[in-house]
Amino acid sequence: MKDYSIETKCVRAGYTPKQGEPCMIPIVQSTTFKYDSTDDMGQLFALEKEGYFYTRLQNPTNDAVAARITALEGGVAGMLTSSGQAANFYAVFNICEAGDHIVAASTIYGGTFNLFGVTMKKLGIDCTFVNPDDPAEEIAKAFRPNTKVMFAETIANPALVVLDIEKFAKLAHDHKVPLIVDNTFATPVNCRPFEWGADIVTHSTSKYMDGHAMQVGGAIVDSGNFDWNAYGDKYHGLTQPDDSYHGVVYTERFGKAAYITKATVQLMRDLGSIPSPQNCFLLSVGLETLALRMERHCYNADRVAHYLNDHEKVSSVIYAGLEGDKYHELAKKYMPKGTCGVISFELKGGREAAVRFMDSLKLATIATHVADAKTMVLHPASHTHRQLNDQQLKEAGVSPGMIRFSVGIENVEDIIADLEQALTNA
Ligand SMILES: *Cc1c(COP(=O)(O)O)cnc(C)c1O
Repeated sequence: MKDYSIETKCVRAGYTPKQGEPCMIPIVQSTTFKYDSTDDMGQLFALEKEGYFYTRLQNPTNDAVAARITALEGGVAGMLTSSGQAANFYAVFNICEAGDHIVAASTIYGGTFNLFGVTMKKLGIDCTFVNPDDPAEEIAKAFRPNTKVMFAETIANPALVVLDIEKFAKLAHDHKVPLIVDNTFATPVNCRPFEWGADIVTHSTSKYMDGHAMQVGGAIVDSGNFDWNAYGDKYHGLTQPDDSYHGVVYTERFGKAAYITKATVQLMRDLGSIPSPQNCFLLSVGLETLALRMERHCYNADRVAHYLNDHEKVSSVIYAGLEGDKYHELAKKYMPKGTCGVISFELKGGREAAVRFMDSLKLATIATHVADAKTMVLHPASHTHRQLNDQQLKEAGVSPGMIRFSVGIENVEDIIADLEQALTNA
């Protein structure tokens, strides 16, 4: 689907029905698949023939949706996982093991920050967090001889820091490691990190890709551009025989699909975070309208950000679409069509005003979710960061009055009217 534009790929990529076949991606809700002879199935286990045998490894519904996301990102191979957390874990663990090291942006999503800083540390994989806004020379100091991968988010959740992808890609490649970018907030509609040098892209498909809060899911897409063979034994999991798979060498057998094939047949086999075909189907329905929704999210968020910015009770607004925003220039370069629908802002009245404001909203939904068709709102100091005191909140970059506002696709006048009436009570 290389020739079609992104809007067309959202609707069409990954599945082309033949004569008399369903127009929608069929839900193949089956754990297993039938073969005629012992040898027919044996060849699948030997990775000598392609075919389905057990849904933990591959399923036609899941594969069609993975192919759609792969096409949207412009990659060569992709896979789906049962959550965004699983996607980021697999993406990194596929090329790291005990004794290895990761360099990651400090502004990444809290769940991923914990995964890298606490849980993967228990597996013997260390992570150094860097300030993504630091000059390249400063960030370069974080690399070690055992560094295997660099990781960041296109637009950080919830800090809304826009990544200088080219700076990060150069740093990664200068240190002979791939760059993984979590592209959840921008989506491939607004930014395709491969075009700026990223090697692997991940997603929490629970957010805009689904868009209707129907399923929790994740995706990994490989650009096929990183040369695993170029650095001796450094990526030996890909370039040396896999004993757990009859000595297969992934780069030899699968070429540019080596990384995703290994993650599928080894990590998914052993760790098993597969999404259900039903969930993948729901995701595919969401993807059909992704381009349309992103356009409206960005339009609405831009209007809301300007409205808030002009409001006397609002002390600050963080939204890269605003001219004065710290990340406005980077956003214009990497996301000329717009960033996303998520805004954060601060009320002059602090914590108490934030709570009064939230409780007065009639349309916006209070929920631990972002990037949805419905406008959703969260007060980090009362919710996601509730256990922290004011000093700890400050260190985490979350002020007591800060509100995370995920602008939906309702009529923007209705959203602004809701803000207006709630702000009078704030
Ligand atoms: C939500 C989110 C995740 C985690 O995804 P889940 O689907 O909730 O597991 C990872 N990265 C980013 C940027 C997110 O917003």
